[in-house]
Amino acid sequence: MTTRTTNNTVGEIAEFLRTLDRVAVTTHVGADGDAIGASAALVRLMHRLGAEAVFCHAEAVPDYLSWLLPDETLRELPPEYDLLVADTSRADRTGVPVPDAGARLNVDHHEDNPLYAEYNLVNPRAAATAEIVADLYTELGVPMDRPTAEALYVGIKTDTGGFNFRNISPRAHELVADLLRAGVVPAEVNERINRRGSIEQLRIVGVSLANAVQYGDALISTVENSDYERTGATEVESKESIDQLRTVAGVDVVAHLREVPNGTKGSLRSETVDVGEVARHFGGGGHRLAAGYTTPRRPGEAREELLSVLEGIVDLGGGQ
Ligand code: 5GP
Ligand code: MN
Repeated sequence: MTTRTTNNTVGEIAEFLRTLDRVAVTTHVGADGDAIGASAALVRLMHRLGAEAVFCHAEAVPDYLSWLLPDETLRELPPEYDLLVADTSRADRTGVPVPDAGARLNVDHHEDNPLYAEYNLVNPRAAATAEIVADLYTELGVPMDRPTAEALYVGIKTDTGGFNFRNISPRAHELVADLLRAGVVPAEVNERINRRGSIEQLRIVGVSLANAVQYGDALISTVENSDYERTGATEVESKESIDQLRTVAGVDVVAHLREVPNGTKGSLRSETVDVGEVARHFGGGGHRLAAGYTTPRRPGEAREELLSVLEGIVDLGGGQ
């Protein structure tokens, strides 16, 4: 494998994509709107370039996103296919194991991405990986059809919290205007990705909000197995509460700590504090203002562990 430690240009990647005949696209574990949106648009781009292209991921694609993918998802990397990875900050977070020969392409917007593939297109200024895939369409002169535009729109909309986060740029809005010209009807897309929750999800979100505790400038919510049992909801559904946790005035860091089979999964959000750095304390990572990690501790201990790291970073006040 020829691993490069430098980033490639959009032009170099466009040229490289033209050389490929059979590709499998994957994305990170726990796929979200940008993960699937960017992947779907990349699969479609490779089809348009005349390649055989499939999406593969060991995990099931969430129902609210599966309509974006042109074909069925394979659970494993088919033999003799080149692996292209979208929206994934590290090679150990890919949806299928990376073969010994390595991934051929890594297209991403995480600033801690170590450029782990043969070809890398990593732009931390992009609001979403979907924005970078859109650049490839432009560079290659491939027009965006409506399904492609919808996939890219979902990526940008979800990774910017509905155009609210600090990562949104004039350029991203200009791209969204182009996506609308290509046929995206936001109300229809929103209907398909929102309004899909269940009563169980509503209840676990309520539990998650009720469990929130404020420590000065930090707000931490913990959710445990017993909470899933009494609501009938899943761990992933509990994370839907995170944007509501962010509405508390005066809070700089929000953490959602939910029990998972191997410990606790933490999701961190902030407007000002580098929570990517906090996540890396626990072997995780992500963006500066949105990051995550998994710790082997149970939620209560995970909260203490997190507070001890936050102590030197934000004012935790004197009590609750
Ligand atoms: P979320 O909290 O929505 O799961 O993740 C927020 C951001 O942090 C995403 O960009 C995600 O890729 C990243 N992230 C979440 N968990 C981990 C982790 O365990 N390791 C790394 N490297 N990144 C993570
Ligand atoms: Mn993303």
